[in-house]
Amino acid sequence: MARLVFSGMTFGMGRSEINNSQNCTPLQKNKSISLSKALDTVDNINLFSLPMSIEAFNQFQDFQLELSALALNQLNDNWSYIWGSTLFSSSKAYRSLAGHSQVEPIFRWLWKTSCQGKHKFFFWLILKDRLSTRDMIRRRGMHLDDYHCVLCQQSTEESTMHLLFYCPFAKDCWNLVNFQFTDHLSVLETFQAWNSLLKVKFSLDLFTLFCWGIWMVRNNVIFRSKNPTVDGGKRYVTSEAPLLLHRAKTRIVPLLESWINSFL
Ligand SMILES: [Zn+2]
Repeated sequence: MARLVFSGMTFGMGRSEINNSQNCTPLQKNKSISLSKALDTVDNINLFSLPMSIEAFNQFQDFQLELSALALNQLNDNWSYIWGSTLFSSSKAYRSLAGHSQVEPIFRWLWKTSCQGKHKFFFWLILKDRLSTRDMIRRRGMHLDDYHCVLCQQSTEESTMHLLFYCPFAKDCWNLVNFQFTDHLSVLETFQAWNSLLKVKFSLDLFTLFCWGIWMVRNNVIFRSKNPTVDGGKRYVTSEAPLLLHRAKTRIVPLLESWINSFL
């Protein structure tokens, strides 16, 4: 994370620099050698433990080219963090380590919804494919006597997509609000279809709540031996809806309330 500025020149030790020389860096003999000492070394190959792989050697040659292009000045060496400051910042450290990966906008949207924390976390698990469905339990190497969906008689393995969207029971639940969608879409694509149907700011709030309703019915079948009914799923949604209304921003409450009352 830190970088050393040698006589005014930066010799980075941040993520990108490590990646650039991921094969020859571990072979470096002296991990804290200064740049000026490295430049003074007669044969740079002696800075590394040998033998090297072909890939590491190619990277060593690139390193030599970079080294030969450097010109030192008379300023003293000093340490600073990769973001150019001597002060530590956890947020900057996180950004440096996380890189610049693109995050789907739905994640930011999810945390801004009026849903309760448990619902947000539940939907986050769905988006990250981490919900403990039976196929996930199998993927984690845990044993179950049966991995089939408990909401239908299709002998289909219970996956997130099957449970919440493709299962005939789930489709009956979504039919309550006239939402039909093509099978084999991803969660994100299914939500986009839902979002273009509703065209309201709280579409993700409601989508999350519906998924939660189906999930609760499934849990009741597995853990309380109850029969799965669409009405049961609807009851979960309607019982949580007042809390959603309570948490919603004042300006969306009337529309959200009328949507809930007209469809549920
Ligand atoms: Zn099913």
